[in-house]
Amino acid sequence: MTHNFDLVIIGGGILGTSISYFLGFLNKTKKIAVIEQAHSVAFHTSGRNTGKVHAPYLYNPEKKKMFAKAAFHGYEMWEEYSKLKSVPFKKDGVIEVSLDEKGNKVLEKYLKWGKQNGLEDIDIKLMDKNELKKIEPEIKCESALYVYKDGSTDYSKFTDALMQDSKNNGINFLLDTKVTNIKKIDGRWKITLNNEHVIFANFIINAAGGEAVDIAHKLDVGETFTDVHFRGEYWRAPKEYNSLTKTSVYSVPEYPDYPFLDPHWIIRVDGSCEIGPNAVPVFSPYGYNKTENIKEFIPKMLEMLKSGARKAIFDKQFQELAINEIQSSMSKSAMISRVKRFLPKIDVEKITEKGTAGIRSSVINNEGKFVPDVILEGDTMSFHILNYNSPGATGALPFSAYVVDHLNRQGMFESENSDARCGPWKFSNIIEKLAL
Ligand SMILES: Cc1cc2nc3c(=O)[nH]c(=O)nc-3n(C[C@H](O)[C@H](O)[C@H](O)COP(=O)(O)OP(=O)(O)OC[C@H]3O[C@@H](n4cnc5c(N)ncnc54)[C@H](O)[C@@H]3O)c2cc1C
Repeated sequence: MTHNFDLVIIGGGILGTSISYFLGFLNKTKKIAVIEQAHSVAFHTSGRNTGKVHAPYLYNPEKKKMFAKAAFHGYEMWEEYSKLKSVPFKKDGVIEVSLDEKGNKVLEKYLKWGKQNGLEDIDIKLMDKNELKKIEPEIKCESALYVYKDGSTDYSKFTDALMQDSKNNGINFLLDTKVTNIKKIDGRWKITLNNEHVIFANFIINAAGGEAVDIAHKLDVGETFTDVHFRGEYWRAPKEYNSLTKTSVYSVPEYPDYPFLDPHWIIRVDGSCEIGPNAVPVFSPYGYNKTENIKEFIPKMLEMLKSGARKAIFDKQFQELAINEIQSSMSKSAMISRVKRFLPKIDVEKITEKGTAGIRSSVINNEGKFVPDVILEGDTMSFHILNYNSPGATGALPFSAYVVDHLNRQGMFESENSDARCGPWKFSNIIEKLAL
């Protein structure tokens, strides 16, 4: 292994691996590495999500412009890539239901946003409860938004396929390798791995998911931001519920200003059904269990009290939401009753198995507000992607192409070829579609 790299990407989630995918096609002689602390790519959030290829109807085209655009183009790119790599991909649609008059208005707004974000009339339809009843007799609601252009997949498999393509193009993957220290020395980065080995790099891309803010702070970047971690838990439904509905069902979120939705009824790409995720505040991006959360409780609380997060945690609405979510973690019936409101047939007693939890890390600014869109911060030696949240997996391919193009245009990291063919796509065609 060489110890000098032109570029190092920290994080082998779907984002870091998608960036490496494009860099591999555009650079044939530069030395590039992806560093991932887990033993496989997509081990954390990218492999622990709902697996939906989201249609961009939930995203305000003003506030979540980048996520919406990337999700819109992501759908077609994943569909195409799935055929090449034999990764499961189903266009199975999603239904968003409203349970009251206020929710009906929200659905009208979602319809408008969906269209503003690129969906066409055949992709999305508002229905009254009687029309929906004919298609989905078990769903109880006031009205529904049927979104046909929404899909299901397995993002772990996609990330693996992207890693293989990247490796074929000469990208190094250092797995089981944690970046434990970074220092700038003589115009280069000295990066310590697993507290023992040292490598050097000219440029760093920080795609470290739940650790991205911490890494940015180490490099004196993004200091006005902090993050809060939320664990999304799932319950698996028994096989007898696999045909309860034809489509996954979401409900209009109770707290639309917060960066997560209410638990949904999910049909996964393999046909199995789950309920989730909730959003329980935890103290670490890896806070899957009590031990990790207890270990990180004091440092995280101190960090939050010193930052803008202080305002958020003392906010009444946030406290109400947090209590609600903690309750839904402690009590199975509290969580399942949130879905039973629109699928009354579900019997809590029949649901006994937990699914795989995933953690999202949402960024808060120094005014105590959750930042809605992705945050890009950089200088001549590093580039940081913060707040890369849902629908981050859906938009990972187009968004990564955007990042690579941005670095090139800004002269931060110039690729050898700025317009190669990248698998099934011509790089410039992706960028053209993304023009904001
Ligand atoms: C419950 C839940 C459900 C979701 N559902 C969907 C969905 O249905 N559809 C959708 O599009 N999106 C969904 N999302 C969002 C989506 O999963 C994320 O936006 C996406 O996975 C983020 O990818 P990432 O690569 O940035 O982060 P990650 O997958 O977390 O990858 C970051 C990687 O960096 C590594 N890392 C961090 N620090 C270091 C270090 N110091 N050294 C080495 N490695 C390091 C970590 O080990 C990790 O593997 C969901 C998210 C959650 C939490």
